[in-house]
Amino acid sequence: MKFIKDWVFNCRRGKQPFAPTGKIWRSPIEGKIITVIAICLMLAIFHQAVHSQPQDTSNLPPAKVHALPQSLATWEQNNQGDYFNEIKSTPLGYLVWSQFPLKIYVDSVPPENTAANQRFQQWTETARKAIAEWNDYLPLQEVSARNIADILVLRSQPERAVKLNPDTRLYDIPRAVSAQTNYKFYLTADPVAIALRMTIQVSPNFTGVSLLATMRHELGHALGIWGHSPKAEDALYFSQVSNPPAISQRDINTLKKIYQQPTRLGWKI
Ligand SMILES: [Zn+2]
Repeated sequence: MKFIKDWVFNCRRGKQPFAPTGKIWRSPIEGKIITVIAICLMLAIFHQAVHSQPQDTSNLPPAKVHALPQSLATWEQNNQGDYFNEIKSTPLGYLVWSQFPLKIYVDSVPPENTAANQRFQQWTETARKAIAEWNDYLPLQEVSARNIADILVLRSQPERAVKLNPDTRLYDIPRAVSAQTNYKFYLTADPVAIALRMTIQVSPNFTGVSLLATMRHELGHALGIWGHSPKAEDALYFSQVSNPPAISQRDINTLKKIYQQPTRLGWKI
């Protein structure tokens, strides 16, 4: 896979309605500005010039529905409902993966017996546990080379981006977050197609149950669940809870519905 060009969408989510434990999830949801930028950037790819009609996506490949991966095709609908209405699309359609197994790179260290290394290893093992949970629903494969990965799981503290608020002319300093997921689009060379790459950052300070819950939650975003559940029983609930739930039927009902939506991603141009 050859990277021709990639665009970073670091769309950060604003403040949450509430956060019982004092920590908040941050997963980026694009706003109007990002949408306009995204369309402009994609037009720039195809025309090599910035066009003045940001809503015109007619030169992009048409949005179509990919075949469901086997694991989702055989998932039986149930009466638990979903939260599909909370899921955001992008200028290129829903964030649907189409080449399986997805390649996931997870930060790790050599097995040296120091305290710092042990903490790192626990972090890595927890990431693998969350990957194994989602692997029941979408085929995932860990890879050791990060440059070929579709999804990067990095042990790092997400940076706080200080932004100028155009209304108040003051700088907004966002609260520190412990985890976030970003995506970017790029063009693959053979075949030429628009591809997706996700980067998950999870703080080294997380441990135990909350680390597993965070990994599970952020992986859900990286697999395409680009939004939050309003119910605390779901892994993609917008806030952390003291007794984190496993992946729920509603999570998978939502995931399946997303994968039944049209997207411009992954189609040969
Ligand atoms: Zn989230």
